[in-house]
Amino acid sequence: MTTTPHSRATLQRQAPQSPQSPLTPTPPVSPVENEPPEGAAGSGAAGGAAPAGDTSGAGPSAPVPGAPGPAASASVNVTLADVGLEASSLDRTSDPCVDFYQFACGGWIQNNPIPADRPRWGRGSDLDERNKTAIKALLEDAAKGVGSEPGSKKLGDFYAACMDEAAAERAGTTAIKAVLGRTQGVKDARTWLAAVAELHKLGIFVVWDNHVRADLKASATNVTYLDAAGLGLPDRDYYAKAEFKDKVDGYKVHVGKMLGLLGGRAQKPEAAAADVVAIETEIAKLTRTATELRDPVGSYNPTDAKALARQVKSVDWPAYWKALGAAPSKKIVVGTPRFFAALDQLRAAFKPAQWASYFTYHLVHSLERVLPKAFGDEAFELRKLLTGIEKPRPRPKQCIELTATAVGELLGQQYVARYFPSSSKQTAVKLVDDLAKAMADEIAGLDWMADATRQIAVAKVGKIARMVGFPDRWRTYDFAVKRDDLAGNAMRAAAFETHRELARAGKPVDRGEWQMNAYQVDAYYEPTANSTALPAGFLQPPFFGPDRSIAANLGAIGMVIGHEITHGFDDYGAQFDADGNLRNWWQKDDLAKFAERGKCVADQYSTFEALPRKYIQGQLTVGENIADIGGAKLAFRAYRAARKDAAKTYVADGFTEDQQFFIAVAQIWCARERPAETERRLTVDPHSPPKFRVYGALRNLPAFADAFHCVPGTPMRPSKTCTVW
Ligand SMILES: [Zn+2]
Repeated sequence: MTTTPHSRATLQRQAPQSPQSPLTPTPPVSPVENEPPEGAAGSGAAGGAAPAGDTSGAGPSAPVPGAPGPAASASVNVTLADVGLEASSLDRTSDPCVDFYQFACGGWIQNNPIPADRPRWGRGSDLDERNKTAIKALLEDAAKGVGSEPGSKKLGDFYAACMDEAAAERAGTTAIKAVLGRTQGVKDARTWLAAVAELHKLGIFVVWDNHVRADLKASATNVTYLDAAGLGLPDRDYYAKAEFKDKVDGYKVHVGKMLGLLGGRAQKPEAAAADVVAIETEIAKLTRTATELRDPVGSYNPTDAKALARQVKSVDWPAYWKALGAAPSKKIVVGTPRFFAALDQLRAAFKPAQWASYFTYHLVHSLERVLPKAFGDEAFELRKLLTGIEKPRPRPKQCIELTATAVGELLGQQYVARYFPSSSKQTAVKLVDDLAKAMADEIAGLDWMADATRQIAVAKVGKIARMVGFPDRWRTYDFAVKRDDLAGNAMRAAAFETHRELARAGKPVDRGEWQMNAYQVDAYYEPTANSTALPAGFLQPPFFGPDRSIAANLGAIGMVIGHEITHGFDDYGAQFDADGNLRNWWQKDDLAKFAERGKCVADQYSTFEALPRKYIQGQLTVGENIADIGGAKLAFRAYRAARKDAAKTYVADGFTEDQQFFIAVAQIWCARERPAETERRLTVDPHSPPKFRVYGALRNLPAFADAFHCVPGTPMRPSKTCTVW
């Protein structure tokens, strides 16, 4: 979780490791365990589920007579492959009523080891790899000068400079020399601030961060947000909890080695590393937990430049804004007031030389990918420690990621032109409309909500802005890209991006702007805009395809869209109105019932054991879990509506259409994960591990238990279920 002022809900947001700088794209991530549902399922895990089909030994290999499904006049036998699903991904020896994730994904998990350079590998990663191959072809053409698309030269030059490893090696640390002079030259309050500002200009947020986003309470205008920042480990808990001691020890060794690579300093790298960790430990104490960061009301503490200057006396704020080249908005929103209240003291508690080590480490770590190989190799050691990966990403993949970070929409624009059929856009727009209708119908029929609240909720669904495929307008990138200056290119890109953001302070919000790129295999809901975006990169198998059945498409991409729409009404999104303002629109009684339902979800997921004796944080993940349960429910409703007048129904390898739908839901989450990555994600990631996204969502949905004939008391048909929407 980042210290961003508000949490944008995404489908599978990757929690950043360490300073989230535009220069350090988040490593493609991570691990999930193929574990028995112990703890998750309770002691009845081996309990007797009803056979899903009439050949119980072999699993549901035949249609269930009278299975609830679309009203049908004729049934046609086909295969799973015919409808777009994979028979080889199933584990037919396991009982779908005990652990449906294992049933739907067991074969896939067995057949798909995690690549050595990945912390997690899932069916989405597979598509992500295919996308990378497509993007690589595009970048190689651009580098060769093939084609005359807008921005082609810039794209090609950036990628070519990155691939020229020898040139990067020769360049050494020349490109960062000036900034290094600032970070190493800290002597007093003035030079301390100069170093902070120099790093902030590059989006390397040490001590605090500075973002400009929509004002949570006046969402048409951008305001400046400031919050505590600058931790090198994934979360404040790493510094505070004994269970992470090995990670802190390993981090200290890494910091020392990283600083040692610069050579020629008076202080010993080991001692400097201890200083860096000591400073971060103090910052961590003043940093909110990942769960606290999800509270928009607690995160919203408006102040202004004058009040801030009175509170933090050792920072010359006018000099800071001047150095950034962008004034703050009149209203400044502070995320963690106690951090700024303690900032003078924090600054004074460490000597200038100690701060110099801290700043210098963050500079080189954020730029590791564009410096000589030794820096990248050492940064890999940290990633290895935190996620369990065994090998670094191959250079072309790193260069694709760096290019995407620097000039992403140039890449998105060409990706769409080359790979995204306009027919996919039309179909997907209709799907989003269908899911929004399912949500409106669902709310209209809710038994626990009074009319006054209900009408506002339905109106909010109607107002969700639906962004599909790619933006209407593409960004431009007005900075120099040189074919022989990788580090310089990356720094100019970062400075340009940071300035673009900071310069928006006080200006109207551009709601047409996308916060994800068109080629990404992901989606998001933005509460301050009441909008959802579904990038082109996602609209491909195994999530979506024109020749897949309705059950398969709605179970996969339909579930994803339903998930995003439900985010508008999860514990976080429900606090925002139809125009994206943080404002209570609920009747008191309804709000209490809503909170009670959310608590049911949080309590249930808190019992899920993801690693031995490590449980899901129910409160951290409640928004995503509400969205998963709601997403599956809405997609099921939309699928039933689409099939209600079907003249024929299809039985695929013995599975009814309802069963196919649920297999599709589960199979989008088939994944493996390394234990260190699971541990990291349990701490920082608001999403539950993939297995529990399936297990949790479907056990709370009686339609699932009906489809597979699970008897009461089996893990997938528990006596108590939780539903919010
Ligand atoms: Zn989500």
